[in-house]
Amino acid sequence: VSSLLGRCRTFKVLVIGDSGVGKTCLTHRLCAGEFPRGVEATIGADFRDTSLEIEGEKIKLQLWDTAGQERFRKSMVQHYYRNVHAVLFVFDVTCPASFNGLSAWVEECRQNSLGHEIPRFLIGNKSDLRDPGRAERQVSQERATSFAKAHGMVFFETSAKNPPRRQVSRQRGDREVVYQQ
Ligand code: GDP
Ligand code: MG
Repeated sequence: VSSLLGRCRTFKVLVIGDSGVGKTCLTHRLCAGEFPRGVEATIGADFRDTSLEIEGEKIKLQLWDTAGQERFRKSMVQHYYRNVHAVLFVFDVTCPASFNGLSAWVEECRQNSLGHEIPRFLIGNKSDLRDPGRAERQVSQERATSFAKAHGMVFFETSAKNPPRRQVSRQRGDREVVYQQ
């Protein structure tokens, strides 16, 4: 990452995956810090920005939240992959069909990123809905991990609805305030 930071402080991140897996909710969570009350199906692509600080360096993430399987995707797809810094492949851990759908997204990425090694992340969303009693109808972490490994991705499980809480400290005036995020 640090070699990229020298060159560029805005990172374009493409969010792809079957429709309904939670791409819009995830980008909303990352950029607005909350789970949206109502989301409408995405048409084309929406863009949201968020900024972070990494090792004292201010970074802007520009998230491209794209629509699932709209027909006109074909005409836009090259635009999505242009100058992209990372791709998030999202599936729903409670929906094996969305996991099986990943190979088509991997293929789209391959076709549109010829010659570029784009950092890729596998995101198993809706982890809050994991139900041990229905394990056989869900996508196991083992399965996701081995898919990620086979495709050179880093795997994370997430929930846009109830993200794991973490402690964050922020400077408020001359005080440091620690709170749960
Ligand atoms: P997209 O088509 O991939 O953009 O999916 P959306 O963000 O529109 O979400 C589809 C549905 O899944 C909506 O009803 C959301 O409320 C729901 N959803 C999204 N993320 C989560 C999550 O982390 N947990 C739960 N329980 N529901 C989620
Ligand atoms: Mg959407």
